[in-house]
Amino acid sequence: MRILISGGGIAGLTLAYWLHRYGHTPVVVERAPHGRLGGYGIDFFGTGYDVAARMGIADRLAAHQLPTESIRYVDGAGRVAARLDRRLLEKVIRGPYLALMHTTLEEALGDAVHDKADIRYGRSITAIEQSPGGVGVTFTDGDFESFDLVLGADGVHSQTRELAFGPEGDFAHHLGYAMACYPVSDTYGLGPHRIHHSEPGRQTILYPSDVPGQLIALFLHRTQDRRPPPRAQRRTALRGAFADASPLTAQLLDAAPEEGLFMDTLTQITMPSWHTGRIALTGDACSAMTLTSAQGASMAMAGGYLLAQALHRHDDHRAAFLAYQNRLRPAVQQRQQRARAFARSLVPATRPGIAAQHLISRLVLRDLFTGLLRRGYGDTTSILDRT
Ligand SMILES: Cc1cc2nc3c(=O)[nH]c(=O)nc-3n(C[C@H](O)[C@H](O)[C@H](O)COP(=O)(O)OP(=O)(O)OC[C@H]3O[C@@H](n4cnc5c(N)ncnc54)[C@H](O)[C@@H]3O)c2cc1C
Repeated sequence: MRILISGGGIAGLTLAYWLHRYGHTPVVVERAPHGRLGGYGIDFFGTGYDVAARMGIADRLAAHQLPTESIRYVDGAGRVAARLDRRLLEKVIRGPYLALMHTTLEEALGDAVHDKADIRYGRSITAIEQSPGGVGVTFTDGDFESFDLVLGADGVHSQTRELAFGPEGDFAHHLGYAMACYPVSDTYGLGPHRIHHSEPGRQTILYPSDVPGQLIALFLHRTQDRRPPPRAQRRTALRGAFADASPLTAQLLDAAPEEGLFMDTLTQITMPSWHTGRIALTGDACSAMTLTSAQGASMAMAGGYLLAQALHRHDDHRAAFLAYQNRLRPAVQQRQQRARAFARSLVPATRPGIAAQHLISRLVLRDLFTGLLRRGYGDTTSILDRT
């Protein structure tokens, strides 16, 4: 089948790879121009790692890991109040754990698929029209083409979802936070460690990027706003949200770029159905979990893989879409529920709350509580076949 994928991110590229492997002809439209830089770090393990291994890219990813020996929770004076060592993290996860730049994973997927799919950068869809025999698609440049299926892998603010299922507000669940991140020079002597620093209602995270001498600063704060401010207002909005912050945060905010500040709200997507007619969704487009799950990229790869596999196993696309959804959705729902619970206690609203959080972390982040930690954060369900 000739299949259009909207979105050349983690889910879309994984999907294109496996569709090609099963004999289909994938066409990918990606809104961004080719060769994006920068971005943010992700924890990568579990199902996503298993799919990466089946694609033969796990060794390449392992070679590009970010240096992460521990996660340190520091107080206002920079003292370590609690720490999670990589050794314990790997024990909790019960398998390989990689800290990666999001772009590292996208690049590895892009290289794995570049000769297997027609990938068109700087392009999007503007209209979709279904008929019994196919789907007609109009693109931003005015071109019109027909496909057998259209698969939306265009992220949490999916245009495919908007066009085929309805407005984002029908499916979005705001977790009450916004995040922002950007690269800064490493003048902090951070070494191979990630630091988390909480203040009432706000958190600053700092970790090494894949560029020597460069760190990524990530900011999380509580907000009732459901969308980020316009690009031109983001730096001011971030500084406003972190007014009177600790010296470390204030110093990082001074380095905020005027342009290119990545900002979004933490929004989960839940939908009664991931498919309609000849159109289906995968990745964040139908199942965004937010960064508090630390498994969005992993499940995006699971989604791409399982959707292609279902289309391979079922002659009828409707049966395939249903099988894919039934297979993946319970695992997604479990992770979304855990991410919501985690978000509630992520950033305490008061200083005594933060002190209590440090105390609990000091007690719990130990081998003795491996099982408890695994139930909270691990990839506990087996979603893939053994093959
Ligand atoms: C700060 C941060 C930290 C995170 N940490 C982790 C973590 O530790 N572990 C983890 O597993 N996950 C993490 N995640 C989540 C993870 O990045 C996402 O769940 C994952 O990227 C989802 O993949 P996707 O392919 O569905 O969507 P995306 O990666 O968002 O890809 C969507 C693609 O579609 C493109 N696109 C969008 N609109 C259109 C359009 N109209 N037309 C064409 N193309 C379009 C976009 O340019 C993009 O390339 C984090 C996310 C953030 C923001």
